[in-house]
Amino acid sequence: MGKTRKIKIAGSDDPAVPPAPAAGSRSACSLCGRPAVTFIRYSGAHLCEDHFLGFVRRKVTREVRRQVRLPDQSTIAVAVSGGKDSVVALRILHDILSARRGTRLVALTVDEGISGYRPSSLRVAARNCKAIGVEHHIISFCEMFGLTMDRSRKRWGDSTPCTYCGVLRRHCLNKLARKLGADLLATGLNLDDTAQSILMNICRGDVERLARLGPHEKAREGLVRRIQPLRLVSDKESFLYATLKGYPVHHSVCPYAGAAMRNRFRDMVLELERASPGTRFCILNSYDALRPGLQARYPPADLAGCSGCGEPSAGGLCEACKLVKRLKDGTGDRVQGTGRKRGTGDRVQD
Ligand code: SF4
Ligand code: ZN
Repeated sequence: MGKTRKIKIAGSDDPAVPPAPAAGSRSACSLCGRPAVTFIRYSGAHLCEDHFLGFVRRKVTREVRRQVRLPDQSTIAVAVSGGKDSVVALRILHDILSARRGTRLVALTVDEGISGYRPSSLRVAARNCKAIGVEHHIISFCEMFGLTMDRSRKRWGDSTPCTYCGVLRRHCLNKLARKLGADLLATGLNLDDTAQSILMNICRGDVERLARLGPHEKAREGLVRRIQPLRLVSDKESFLYATLKGYPVHHSVCPYAGAAMRNRFRDMVLELERASPGTRFCILNSYDALRPGLQARYPPADLAGCSGCGEPSAGGLCEACKLVKRLKDGTGDRVQGTGRKRGTGDRVQD
């Protein structure tokens, strides 16, 4: 970690990490007195580059330890789209785990077939993997389902594209992670994403889905257990971390993201955080307190092999097979599902 650089947070709308003040008017780091690169509004701390990087890394380390006890020999798959969150998750996990002998990290990327967006993000994901010597595996909708998001766009009906894409992405990631022998599948879901998901499911009255939100506490037959290393790291903390570290990051917006319901919840959560710093943590803490009761009320369904593809299913065809059938039959009935956050293709919600 070297000298402090001036950070410009383009379009920052996260009240937790306002843009750094201009040179000469900088606040001092609350811990060491050096120039601060950020002010963490929910804690009231000004932090310099070194202390900010350490702050994020410690949060991730603690959260991973809280979510899972790693076995001595383990393979951890990380879903890496090339966006800032998945890149930060990959690189911090690599920093934390590289000293652990017997732990293998692999990176997975899903190619949904979105021209003008996914090919460049795949290259960014590959660059990050190459920089730290992590195996990179790619799985595509085309090879898995014989379709692409671009080619199926006329068949979505009233549903948002993310409804289809999200289910198919989860299916691909689980299958590839299992094939690679992964014990865990880490995603780049951050604090903002998680708070949005909790509120979305409450507002929809989808209590069952709420009970199933990750991180997963147990492995289930055929399903690779998911963890969320960035669960306590905000959107812009992740952005600032990637920027200060100089990681290559893909910034483009998915052309299909505009229709996602998640965008409204994103704005709502930011507005609440602006009015009352720390709201996102309050949403997570409330959810974590309610979660055991929700899980007791809605225990996970018994899983069997999907009658179409053999992947885990709660009965008959799995969700992915049902959606692929709809897309191929051209019956784009409205389907219930999660919209995804604006501009990010790496959200795996439950
Ligand atoms: Fe898929 Fe994400 Fe694009 Fe939605 S925003 S269509 S989930 S890549
Ligand atoms: Zn299936």
